[in-house]
Amino acid sequence: MVCTVTVLIAGGGIAGLTMALTCHQIGVPALVLESVRTMAPLGVGINLQPNAIRELCDLGFADDLDRIGIEATEWALVGRGGNDVWAEERGRSAGYRWPQYSVHRGELQMLLYRAVIDRLGPDAILTGHRVTGYHTAVDGVVAHVDTRDGKADEFSGSVLLAADGLHSAVRAQMHPDQPEPHWGGQILWRGATPGPPVRSGACFTLVGTPDQRFVHYPISSIDPDTGLQLQNWIAELTVDPSGGVVQSSWNKEVDIDEFLPAFADWTFDWLDIPSLVRGAPAVWEFPMVDRNPVDRWVDGRTCLIGDAAHVMYPVGSNGASQAIVDARVMGAKFLEHGVGPDAAEAFEEQLLEPMSKLVLRNRGHGPIGILGVVEERCGGYFDDIDDVIPRDEIEVFMSNYKAAAGFAIDALNAAPSTIQSGARVAP
Ligand SMILES: Cc1cc2nc3c(=O)[nH]c(=O)nc-3n(C[C@H](O)[C@H](O)[C@H](O)COP(=O)(O)OP(=O)(O)OC[C@H]3O[C@@H](n4cnc5c(N)ncnc54)[C@H](O)[C@@H]3O)c2cc1C
Repeated sequence: MVCTVTVLIAGGGIAGLTMALTCHQIGVPALVLESVRTMAPLGVGINLQPNAIRELCDLGFADDLDRIGIEATEWALVGRGGNDVWAEERGRSAGYRWPQYSVHRGELQMLLYRAVIDRLGPDAILTGHRVTGYHTAVDGVVAHVDTRDGKADEFSGSVLLAADGLHSAVRAQMHPDQPEPHWGGQILWRGATPGPPVRSGACFTLVGTPDQRFVHYPISSIDPDTGLQLQNWIAELTVDPSGGVVQSSWNKEVDIDEFLPAFADWTFDWLDIPSLVRGAPAVWEFPMVDRNPVDRWVDGRTCLIGDAAHVMYPVGSNGASQAIVDARVMGAKFLEHGVGPDAAEAFEEQLLEPMSKLVLRNRGHGPIGILGVVEERCGGYFDDIDDVIPRDEIEVFMSNYKAAAGFAIDALNAAPSTIQSGARVAP
């Protein structure tokens, strides 16, 4: 056994790194065991909701987020014919106390990684260390680890928090009978292309239907010399899932001919989708998968957080946001119950049920469900949306989704900080 530390964290993604920073804030030693040998800024754009931005600001990242993120001020659903179904303000423009940001996922991860090194020290994260399982000991928990030099080793701690994502080894041990990730036939192709600002230049736009759609939002500010912005985009098609899902990572590069023909005539006076796709230097494929909810995240002193606990379809821009919130809620439970199984139980008690419901809600298209209603009623082509769907119906749908995902404006603005400034776990 090479090391004993209070909180062991499996995985240095957004959940694991936020967890380490939260432990540091509340005075609890933590060690991150990350399987990749070198941290690299993988992925393309993600949106972070105000509930997550609030937590990152409490961790001292307000200025950094302003530097790496683009404040999203508008969110729009657009029908297949190119006309607005719904447009609403987002972030501070909508009245939240915190912004919504579009960021490059890899840049966010590297920001958190460097902060862990700065604040906890370079030994607080061991890359090239894959957690393969765990066992509960008399007064703690032991993580089984394949180390960088190819040896099997053990690390002990008071708790093990599994932030090891979709393919979590810890979850696989906790739930040995769980099925493979669930795939409903949706495939995403993702890229980023320099292009002219679209709409307000700060808008998240979703065009199409639940079965064929195009998501777009900027992830850089407008270059003063060229007038262009880096435009993050996702094209999505639903295919017959009976062949089964083959892979799911952030970095399978593919050719645009695999999907562009389906979007060939998606050209509107405000957005030329085929040109945007053709201009991307690289395109990545990602089958949209989740996992069936489970009835427990806790086994003694081991607890799942982030995607390991509740990976969900990315239809509501809230998986990473929730991963951040998870880490903060766990920190609050440590403050309340001490670092041990009671905190893990309290975390599960608060979040398992609502998150399991959200996983299933996202499987049913989340907020994009409105485009399905429009498709059913008029095939996606209309002159006046009020003839197709009343505004009240959309408003109710949207507020219900925000409440379920934890970012209803009034509730979030009124809620006290998850972790009060200066709070420390009693020694
Ligand atoms: C296409 C797409 C678009 C998305 N868009 C958004 C969005 O707009 N907004 C949003 O909030 N969310 C979005 N998400 C979801 C978001 O990316 C995830 O919810 C988030 O990355 C989860 O973070 P995590 O740290 O829990 O897991 P991960 O990011 O998967 O990190 C897990 C980490 O653990 C490491 N690891 C894996 N196995 C082991 C092991 N056995 N031992 C040690 N380390 C291990 C991995 O290398 C990785 O570093 C999107 C997801 C996808 C797929």
